[in-house]
Amino acid sequence: MKLDITKGIQRKGIDVPFEIEDAWGEDHWNGDTISYVRPVSFSGTYMLADETVIVRGVARAVIESPCARCLAPTETSVEAEVSEAFIRDIGQEREADDDQYMYSGHVLELDEAVRTSLLLELPTRILCKEDCRGYCSQCGANLNINECSCQKDLTHRNPFSALASLLNEDEEV
Ligand SMILES: [Zn+2]
Ligand SMILES: [Zn+2]
Repeated sequence: MKLDITKGIQRKGIDVPFEIEDAWGEDHWNGDTISYVRPVSFSGTYMLADETVIVRGVARAVIESPCARCLAPTETSVEAEVSEAFIRDIGQEREADDDQYMYSGHVLELDEAVRTSLLLELPTRILCKEDCRGYCSQCGANLNINECSCQKDLTHRNPFSALASLLNEDEEV
């Protein structure tokens, strides 16, 4: 996602509106593979103050990720405010931990700033529906589709399995 700032260079100190879109494909987040279902859009204004470009706008994306319980592909609409300063790279040595965004020439590379803001807006656990029941830990059935009989079996079996584990403990001593 690139922003051409030629207009802003010609008119320093003035807010220049912009609107860009970019198709991003796959990404990684929280250990999951996610994908941007539609092109990511970013619109707002930028302004040049000396050699620094101030970019302010709103980014929008639809992100598909696996449901935290049943792994079904789940779409989430995300909207994030982005407000960042980009400093012109004039080839000076910089601190290793300096995470300032840089630019050179007349083009800003916005991917990192926009991506970071969008992913911060994602909920920590994405569910396909609020009451997703996930998979049975015993038999692996998808409980959204099928009721399994594990829970019933468990209550029947319980007295015996409790006894069995008692016997095992005795043996180990
Ligand atoms: Zn689910
Ligand atoms: Zn089951």
